[in-house]
Amino acid sequence: MMSSIDSSQHRSLRHTKIIATLGPATESESMLEKIIDAGVDVVRLNMAHGSSQWVIDIVARIRRVSDRIGRHVAVMMDVKGPEIRTGMVDQPVVLNAGDVLQLVTEDADPDTPNPLEVTARLTVSVNYRDLPSAIDVGQTVMVDSGLLRMKVLAKSTTHIACEVLTPGTITSRRHINLPGVKINLPALTEKDHRDLEAGIKADIDFVALSFVRTAADVQTLRDFLTEHQSQAKIVSKIEDQSGVRNMHGIIEKSDGIMVARGDLGIEIDFEELPLVQSQLIQACQAEGKPVIVATHLLESMIDSPIPTRAEVSDVSNAVREQADAVMLSGETTTGAYPLEAVDALKRIISSIEPSIDSKLNASIVLREPKAMLLRSSATLAQELGDSGVVVFTRSGFLAYVLGALRPRGVPIYAFTDNETLFHQLLLPWGVEPFLMPFSEDPEQTIQDALSMLRDRGWCAPGTTLGFITNILADGKIVDTLQLRTVEAET
Ligand code: PEP
Repeated sequence: MMSSIDSSQHRSLRHTKIIATLGPATESESMLEKIIDAGVDVVRLNMAHGSSQWVIDIVARIRRVSDRIGRHVAVMMDVKGPEIRTGMVDQPVVLNAGDVLQLVTEDADPDTPNPLEVTARLTVSVNYRDLPSAIDVGQTVMVDSGLLRMKVLAKSTTHIACEVLTPGTITSRRHINLPGVKINLPALTEKDHRDLEAGIKADIDFVALSFVRTAADVQTLRDFLTEHQSQAKIVSKIEDQSGVRNMHGIIEKSDGIMVARGDLGIEIDFEELPLVQSQLIQACQAEGKPVIVATHLLESMIDSPIPTRAEVSDVSNAVREQADAVMLSGETTTGAYPLEAVDALKRIISSIEPSIDSKLNASIVLREPKAMLLRSSATLAQELGDSGVVVFTRSGFLAYVLGALRPRGVPIYAFTDNETLFHQLLLPWGVEPFLMPFSEDPEQTIQDALSMLRDRGWCAPGTTLGFITNILADGKIVDTLQLRTVEAET
């Protein structure tokens, strides 16, 4: 059902979008209402911690709250992809530097005697059966977000003995990172398939795919979505060395990219992370694809009502680099101050955006004449001042390209009659989407858009806007850029 609600009845112009991951701290109806009202544009469902039933329930709740308060958000389901985890341990075990932790593949015969001549402090299973052949003696194994760092001492076809380098405590089902090791797991697991089916039924707007290593991984998900007739767009999470190496092919096949700094900061040397972040942002801007900077933006706000100075600088950097969106994880899943974290992002974005120069993104390659017309419309609106560009779109292309041009100070009003696309346009930089039926008569559609912008308080009477639209001239459809002025209500 089409509800003609704009995304943003309470939002003043903000180019950089905000994503919040939902969890116990934010999933109640009252907290959802608060964070959506506070300015969250996209909510993320992290399926590393969610069941299919949770997806059905939470998406219904999000849509209910949005309808009630008149502010809509996009829903991004983050599927966990090829994740390597340790198995169960009876109780937490403290491992000191020099201790040996032995990993054994889940399918190993428990009666096979341990082929490695090492005395292990603890033996724990691992869910990746090809790990022994994938990893070499001397390589690094990181457990639990890199808290426990180990080096491979010896291996057999089923066992891997690791020397603990950085001490720590191991508990059950900890995530393992293997910097530089090529992983041969399928892009989508059985659980991912189940989660995706639930998500598609619930009408999610985006799927974020974890640990995308090649463009073929993206294609696997694309095929699944097509088979299930889903319109969801794909955000590829770059979080290991293969993803970084293959970034251009991955960006080309994806609808957006997430710089998933949590894992990426473990899989590559941390001092390289800012450089890789910049490369990914620039590569996405050149292709006109949205890019999200994720994880640890305001990590200290899990326990504190104010961010650290370093976190403020990190968020400012992402805003200056003109990422499309910044994403909260632990801050809004289990943190004690989720609303304060959203507010902190808004404050930093509002403070930094006006300081960014208004030069258009010169790196984007505009292949079609209509895309070049968009660049002219952005320059025109900047020169007019207190203006904006209006586009009508059914594929999202015009709005995505306009956002990628980064016309600082120019709102991009994107009108669509497709509800999923309306949600998806909440992600790109600077785009303010509106859901509105299109009339058979193009002039009527323009008039309807002008009235909606005026009636909802986006544009005062007298404001001149650039409109990208088609006209019928001598039986032919012609692309035009027109100047239109918002009239006073009669
Ligand atoms: C990350 O690693 O930064 C990330 C967003 O992934 P996840 O939260 O799924 O581990």
